[in-house]
Amino acid sequence: MATKIISLGCRQCDNLVVEYKKQGTGGLVRILIERIQGPPHLLPLKQVGKKSDLPPLTCGECAALIGAPAIYEGKRLAYRLIKGSFKKILS
Ligand SMILES: [Zn+2]
Repeated sequence: MATKIISLGCRQCDNLVVEYKKQGTGGLVRILIERIQGPPHLLPLKQVGKKSDLPPLTCGECAALIGAPAIYEGKRLAYRLIKGSFKKILS
């Protein structure tokens, strides 16, 4: 399956929020923590063991809520993206 790195920015202020290794095609509904590639301040999230320890994903500039903690496939930590809060940044 094709994998590519995509960057998501805040729709309100254009700030880069997350770089993510996306698999396959189709819309982006959630992001798995294990596939977050950057920015560096997000990488410690991979050490988080449970959903209740996962902070909401917010914009570092304007604090807009981008993603809510979620569980995918029963055990994998993820963020469910808030529709309309983000946009793809073309690189
Ligand atoms: Zn923002």
